[in-house]
Amino acid sequence: MSKAMTEYRYNRLTWPEINDAIAAQKLVILPTGSTEQHGPHLPLDVDVFLCESVCLEVGRRAPDKVLVLPPVAYGLNLHHIDFPGTIHIEPEVFIAFCLNITKSVAYHGFQKILIVNGHGSNGPLIDLVARKTVLETPSLCFATTYFWFLLDEFQKIRETPVMAHADEFETSLYLYLAADRVQMDKAVEDNDRMGKYVSSDSTPNYPVRFNDYWGRWTRTGVHGDPRPATAEKGRRLFEAAVTGLLELVDELRRWPIEERADMHRLPAAKSIRW
Ligand SMILES: [Zn+2]
Repeated sequence: MSKAMTEYRYNRLTWPEINDAIAAQKLVILPTGSTEQHGPHLPLDVDVFLCESVCLEVGRRAPDKVLVLPPVAYGLNLHHIDFPGTIHIEPEVFIAFCLNITKSVAYHGFQKILIVNGHGSNGPLIDLVARKTVLETPSLCFATTYFWFLLDEFQKIRETPVMAHADEFETSLYLYLAADRVQMDKAVEDNDRMGKYVSSDSTPNYPVRFNDYWGRWTRTGVHGDPRPATAEKGRRLFEAAVTGLLELVDELRRWPIEERADMHRLPAAKSIRW
């Protein structure tokens, strides 16, 4: 059996093994995160470390079905730039960079690509990357965040109302995966400026999209309350995310790629490209 069916890390394969992986139509996963301040108690790598850890576990449990690319460790972050260490990538650059990755993967013949995001501000950008990949290649590209798959589980165990940033949820996951890198003695609670329709770090429950410079409304860089975080909560959240994504992998691998029907009576000008 080819190593392509047991190795789930994309760049651990040789090019002949990649040919085997293409023949098996493994789903290719691209994790995206950020290098960004996460309060005084967590390292800068939270978004990329948590997201990549979830994706690699999906690979470990389904090595015959997926290949996990090296993650994109930087994202849209200028709103955090007042906090030392944060790295910002312009949204146009991020979209172009990720699209170059998905198009390369599609070029080789992988028909299904999944972007799994771990940094909220990348959300609208990966949606566009997935859509542009579908429109510009013969492959299908899907975009999601691993947060989505653990929401139900978080509802059962959460002790704090806010799910945002360096909070109970992210801190619990980090405690589960690498407790030695979390400084719980420095964990503090903080909140954003809230109106009826708008908040300064508009989480999805607000109808108006808005994100202010964080240097305007917080001195800690935390949005939420990390203090009740535990490794056991993190374990349950991690399991929920991995289990949900494994189901998604099966659904996407089954998803058909149909021939497009052309409804023009006379030939369309198909040489035009946008
Ligand atoms: Zn985060």
